[in-house]
Amino acid sequence: MSFLTIVQIVLFIGLVGASFFVAFRKFKEIYDNIMLGKPEQINTTLGFRIKNMLLIALGQKKMFKLTFAALLHMVIYVSFVITQIELIEIFIDGLVGSHRILYHAFENIQFLHTLYVVVINFIEILSLLTFFVTIIFILRRTTFRVARFQMPELKGWPWRDALTILAFELILISFIFLMNGADSALHIKENGEGYGFILSGFFGSMLTGLPNLSLELLEKLGWWGHLCMVMTFLVYLPYSKHLHIMLAFPNTFFSRPEAKGEIHNMPAIQHEVQSMLDPSFVVPVTDGEIKFGAKDVYDLSWKSLLDAYTCTECGRCTAACPANQTGKKLSPRKIMMDTRDRMEDISKGKKEHGPDFADNKSLLGDYITGEELRACTTCNACVEECPVNISPLSIIIELRRNLIMEASDSPTEWNNIFANLENNQAPWQFSPSDRLNWTQEL
Ligand code: SF4
Ligand code: SF4
Repeated sequence: MSFLTIVQIVLFIGLVGASFFVAFRKFKEIYDNIMLGKPEQINTTLGFRIKNMLLIALGQKKMFKLTFAALLHMVIYVSFVITQIELIEIFIDGLVGSHRILYHAFENIQFLHTLYVVVINFIEILSLLTFFVTIIFILRRTTFRVARFQMPELKGWPWRDALTILAFELILISFIFLMNGADSALHIKENGEGYGFILSGFFGSMLTGLPNLSLELLEKLGWWGHLCMVMTFLVYLPYSKHLHIMLAFPNTFFSRPEAKGEIHNMPAIQHEVQSMLDPSFVVPVTDGEIKFGAKDVYDLSWKSLLDAYTCTECGRCTAACPANQTGKKLSPRKIMMDTRDRMEDISKGKKEHGPDFADNKSLLGDYITGEELRACTTCNACVEECPVNISPLSIIIELRRNLIMEASDSPTEWNNIFANLENNQAPWQFSPSDRLNWTQEL
């Protein structure tokens, strides 16, 4: 093994090891943030969970409510998954200092050799398609200005994040073709024919005029460039909305089983009403202070916090939200983004000031306002539309319960209704005994 190969192996192990270490630390931080939430029991069978995950995360079933966007997304998604096969070969080559180890290992085994060539061709065709789809995605945000990508909550970092990843993809694909093209050119020069890769063979045939040293350098540039982009993506992923490529799976696996639109009672209130209606009802004893709704992320369930980290910022929820459509301040996408931002701010504060960090802020008030929460009609359209089974409504309801029942912050008109419900068991100002008065005129 040459000295250069040993240096290459050391660099490879150093780069990959450092990248996994940095990424792991951030993934662990995200896990801890999700665990800040309250326990929530999700009573579903394993079959239900796997079915949801296969249909919604893997099969992208809900994406197809918008067919064009779904098809474009599917190309990138399939390409991302399939490209990992070539990455396996790159990793083995990096570790043992070989060159196209699988190609050479399968060279004399006809079936595997053919399969290898077919797979790499498939990867290259998908990569080329992904290149064009990525350009379309960039144009949808910057030139065609699709409405749901132009909303205020996407200004600044979310906008840069979306375009950064798209730029990543273009560069990464370019490196794949540079690597395979230069390698094919070398193979053509040495053997009179390429590897059998149609696209990179075509590019390679245009490079055969270059000296071997230049081709070897270009191949190495493509190989290392591809690897560096993959490792950068790994480190960047947990800071980005693209984390959904991983979290969509656990999030759909733990989908809530309740019928859409079902709103849970608050046990403390339910028990009070039960005791009013039935004097024999014994109110169960509860431990500790009773708190209504959620003021901060600590009061939300872990599932709602997982939802927040899974949000793709696609805006389908906001586009379907009647409150948003009628010009109200509410955007369900912003609710998810604010919840995630709050968790990130807490973990940043803990890193800087220790585990007892407190900033006297809360999700309710400092990130999400009462005006936003009051605009929600609880119509459930956001939950219905979300391609990864996120429920912004669960967070809205919990925060609004706190706003009204703990902070007593509700408009006078609502307070009148609440008082009537309490006194008259109906929203109107009539005594229950007067309800049938109108029939006397008949
Ligand atoms: S439930 Fe609320 S947030 Fe969701 S779409 Fe309806 S109005 Fe908008
Ligand atoms: S909550 Fe769902 S629909 Fe809304 S932006 Fe996030 S991923 Fe998209």
